[in-house]
Amino acid sequence: MDLSASVETVKGVGPKTAAALMNVNINTVGDLVYCLPRIYENYQTTVNIEDLRPGKVIVRGKIDGLHIIRTSRKKLTITEGVIRDATGAIRTVWFNQPYRAKQFDSEREYYFTGKYELKNGRYVLTSPSATLVQDIEKDGEAAGFQPIYSAKSAIKPQTFHKIISGMRSDFAKIPDLLPLTEGKPDFVTSGARAEALFYSHFPESPEDAEKGRRYLAYEELFELILAAKLNKLENQRLRSTPLKFDAKFIQKIVKSLPFKLTEAQRRATWEILQALERTTPMNRLLQGDVGSGKTIVAAIAAAQAAHNGRQIALLAPTAILATQHYESLVRLFQDIEAKNPGITMPRTALLTGATFNKPMLKRLIKAGEIDFVIGTHALLTDTTTFRDLAFCIIDEQHRFGVGQRQKLLLKSPKDTAPHLLSMTATPIPRSLQLTAFGDLDVSLLNELPPGRQPIETRILNETEQRDELYPRMRELLAKKQQIYWICQVIEEKNGNMATPVKKQAKKLEELFPQVKIGLLHGKMRPEEKDRIMTEFAENKTQILVSTTVVEVGVNVPNANMIIIQDSENYGLAQLHQLRGRVGRGDQPAYCFLLTTGEGRPSKRLREMEKSTDGFHLAEVDLQIRGPGEIYGSMQHGELNLQVANLSDTELIAQASHHAEEFAQHAEEMENYSELATRIKKYQQLTTLN
Ligand code: ADP
Ligand code: MG
Repeated sequence: MDLSASVETVKGVGPKTAAALMNVNINTVGDLVYCLPRIYENYQTTVNIEDLRPGKVIVRGKIDGLHIIRTSRKKLTITEGVIRDATGAIRTVWFNQPYRAKQFDSEREYYFTGKYELKNGRYVLTSPSATLVQDIEKDGEAAGFQPIYSAKSAIKPQTFHKIISGMRSDFAKIPDLLPLTEGKPDFVTSGARAEALFYSHFPESPEDAEKGRRYLAYEELFELILAAKLNKLENQRLRSTPLKFDAKFIQKIVKSLPFKLTEAQRRATWEILQALERTTPMNRLLQGDVGSGKTIVAAIAAAQAAHNGRQIALLAPTAILATQHYESLVRLFQDIEAKNPGITMPRTALLTGATFNKPMLKRLIKAGEIDFVIGTHALLTDTTTFRDLAFCIIDEQHRFGVGQRQKLLLKSPKDTAPHLLSMTATPIPRSLQLTAFGDLDVSLLNELPPGRQPIETRILNETEQRDELYPRMRELLAKKQQIYWICQVIEEKNGNMATPVKKQAKKLEELFPQVKIGLLHGKMRPEEKDRIMTEFAENKTQILVSTTVVEVGVNVPNANMIIIQDSENYGLAQLHQLRGRVGRGDQPAYCFLLTTGEGRPSKRLREMEKSTDGFHLAEVDLQIRGPGEIYGSMQHGELNLQVANLSDTELIAQASHHAEEFAQHAEEMENYSELATRIKKYQQLTTLN
């Protein structure tokens, strides 16, 4: 079987079906055989109606008496019918699927798969799926264990089933894909792939299907891991400017800091400073929970680069954050210079959309009169050029796309690649680190600076418990501390029930006339945002009502309470980031998650209440949403695993070992052209350079 052949060459696929397949991106025979069944149905478990027990069931029979009932609640339709076999009859219902009333031929037999349960005092089969018996039984032989395909827009599952069935005898001719090399697990053998695909499409038992699935999951993990490893090797072939470590210089800086570095900060700084000395570019992620003190680690590394006479760029996702970094680092650098006569810290500048006289600043950067440029996207424009950019720092890296990172990295001199330090408070779970992010080195800040208080988190139902909240706010304000109040939207929007930030600000002004209230949102001009943020940082306003523009990085240690309105609308990572705005000083801190719903709060919110550990929450988030959604197009193209499950640590370990051995002989890749093609999509996915 030639997997690269067009679907048009498949027996039974006419021009119309071929066009429909291509429409859903199934272009080749390979694409076709990798469209795996959604689930399997075991028709051997079909029962007679007289023997039915509540639960998931399959019955075989004819259906009649179909009619539609419209309920008084608008738009809900119920389609009812009666299914009969030789032993009895049952009622069946579908909700909001009116087409069911016309779908069936009362003379023909179907398999109905659904839940047999008590509804409004009587037993019914609810929302069964149906398959024509004739479609799945061949030559009168009873149906057994059957794959069920998903509908692919214009192509019905049955059509799909037919096409695949027509190819059955060719499956044995599917060529091997994975290298049968050193380090492979026992189940990777010649013919194993063909067998796995065959088992997936034509299993005789659940065990067959599982065996097929496991092999294909392995294959997927192997590809993902190999791509990451090859990326890493490629990265190591690039040349970078080594930035020499000057122990005396670094010691002076560390001694002059206003605080003692945590053990974790020391370790991470050391790892980074060492990596910067190499002639291969660093590609490192500094991972540390909110408030763990990543900025200072980056600043010390930047100082080492400037000390070597090279330039550094720090990219931040918002003007507020860039400005804050700039101001605090300039202050820090001045302090250090004052304490250590003769020492030179980086000449630092801020470049955002609001920067006054950009052309002049850009000339200084180009001439090398500025060592350290801190900025936003404004930094990425073509007119920003460097004399000798050797080190790039990206703060809150998950906020940037591959293209944006690329733009920054290309600003280094020709023939060299800059060292890259990405920083994030959204930890990458270990399973992903072993797979998709295997090309990254990681430094970890797994410790918070001393004196930090745990943030007490509570879910509050807005309607019932809001009155509890105001006294807590008053208490905190009386202690001269400050509060963030987060809303999701700026103004009232059709269809979105969330309370807008402007409305909430008004309301709080009425409730708390004795304090000043700031209002911040993304549609304001950058200067205005900066002004409002500065007023809050200087305690000129006491409550800041804001949209999530304050989500990342902003540091106001006197703010010790955050209230997140409509908290059900946020993702776990985002909630954790928002909560990280408080508890940055040495006072107790509080986070209230307001909900409007009546039911039990979501798992996300309950996890937030239970844990303040970003690493734990990232794992939970991965379980809830899956990697595709978290590390979606924004960051990495698409990470859409078809078969593999990232919690399968044994398969990951095996694939990792096998891929590692194989990557040692990357030149052999040319003998594996299909593999090479297949991993391209992952290589683009995982690359950070
Ligand atoms: P994040 O990791 O979230 O970016 P920051 O770098 O903004 O954290 O640091 C948070 C706060 O902690 C800042 O005010 C910073 O000055 C302070 N900080 C950093 N390291 C230490 C330390 N070792 N001891 C005390 N405070 C520290
Ligand atoms: Mg930060």
